[in-house]
Amino acid sequence: MLNLTSPAVVRALLLKYGIRPKRRLGQNFLINPGVLEKIIAAANLAAGDTVVEIGPGVGTLTRRLAETAGKVVAVEVDRALVGLLKETLSGYANIFLVEGDALKVGLDALVAAAGGAFPYKVVANLPYYLSTSLLTRLLRGDFKVSLLVIMVQKEVALRLVARPGTKEYGALSVLVRYKTEPELVAVVSRGSFFPAPEVDSAVVRLAVRSSPPVAVPDEELFFRVVRAAFAKRRKTLVNALAASALGLSREVGALVLARAGVDPQQRGETLTLEEFAAVTRSLAAEQEE
Ligand code: SAM
Repeated sequence: MLNLTSPAVVRALLLKYGIRPKRRLGQNFLINPGVLEKIIAAANLAAGDTVVEIGPGVGTLTRRLAETAGKVVAVEVDRALVGLLKETLSGYANIFLVEGDALKVGLDALVAAAGGAFPYKVVANLPYYLSTSLLTRLLRGDFKVSLLVIMVQKEVALRLVARPGTKEYGALSVLVRYKTEPELVAVVSRGSFFPAPEVDSAVVRLAVRSSPPVAVPDEELFFRVVRAAFAKRRKTLVNALAASALGLSREVGALVLARAGVDPQQRGETLTLEEFAAVTRSLAAEQEE
């Protein structure tokens, strides 16, 4: 069987199929077996699990997933790679290979079509260009996912696990912590990929929460408050809210914050999940009056 963590093997395979790695699709293939095993361990797979892999590439991670999970649904956008994958994944009866765009396909429907189990896990070495948009789609959408183990650009990984008051903390950090319990698994150097990208990466484990950790009357309003607070990072919270699309005057904004027990002079980037929730509750109550 081909050793897919060997750069020489990957290079020869790509040559055979006339494929040049496409930068615009983030085609940097994992060639570090140690990192591969860290991803597999973080996914904590059992025979009853179904895994969705976004962007199987040449099939390196896909094969290891198929050896540890019950079923793997692999979604690859590049038709040329799909042809190559038919060779590298032949012999694995539990892999359901789909040609499609992960930003458009309905993952729940694919898992159902493959006869997979719910909730399923998502494990992927994501192309850089789509990591934040795909993650936002997965977390905001109503997908039946219990766990995500994803490789992303290191700088993005630090945002996903960031705590209040740090420079990495932003709207994405709040969304991630609201929906999941995030954990940094490993930082991965650029030399672990063929071809090597220009930046380092990291593996992040996001365990999806079964219920939200804070009470908000309206999730849409909650995320609007969060976005407003971070849209003007240098402004105090009261000024950021006044400058936002929420349409609050400074006076009403100050009242809403005071009722939430939040100092209007604070900056949005210092607020915890509970404080954002308190501001949302206070704003919802104000809007009802
Ligand atoms: N999983 C492989 C590995 O670890 O070596 C490849 C990872 S590579 C970073 C990203 C993969 O995602 C590429 O195979 C690329 O063609 C694929 N891809 C890019 N955009 C995609 C999209 N919108 N939907 C599905 N796959 C996509």
